[in-house]
Amino acid sequence: MEVRSCRGCGKLYNYLGPSTPACPACMAAMEEKFQKCKEYIRDNPGANIQQVADETETTVKMIKQWVREERLTFAEGSAVGIECEGCGASILTGRYCPACKFKMQQNFMNASRRTPTPEQQTNNRNDRDNKMRFLDR
Ligand SMILES: [Zn+2]
Ligand SMILES: [Zn+2]
Repeated sequence: MEVRSCRGCGKLYNYLGPSTPACPACMAAMEEKFQKCKEYIRDNPGANIQQVADETETTVKMIKQWVREERLTFAEGSAVGIECEGCGASILTGRYCPACKFKMQQNFMNASRRTPTPEQQTNNRNDRDNKMRFLDR
C-alpha cells in the first residue's frame, strides 16, 4: 500500500491507484461538485462554462476535464461546449468533434496499412545506405 499526500488538502491517505487521485474526503467533495455541475448544466443548458464554474464552486479547468473524460456532456444545442482539440470547433463532450474523430480513424487505418514489416524496413534502410555510399564516391 502506498501513502500519498492529498492534492486537495495535503493530508496523507492510502493511494490505491489512478482511481484515487485524492483522499476519500476530497474525492467525496469532488464527486459532490461533479453531481452539482451535472445538474446545473442539465437545468441551465444556456449557461456558459464560466457561469457553471461560478455557480457550482468549481473551476473551468475541472469542468473541462470532466467533459474531456466524457463524464459530463453539454445538452444538445446548448450555448456552451468545449473546443475540439483538432480543429477548435465547439463540441459537447469528449476531445474531438465527429469530423476530426472520423479523420483520425481514417489516418489510423491508413497508417496501419502503410506500416512496413520489419523486413521491408531493413531493405529500405539498405537501399538508402547503398545510395548514400554511391553519392559519396
Ligand atoms: Zn484531501
Ligand atoms: Zn474537430
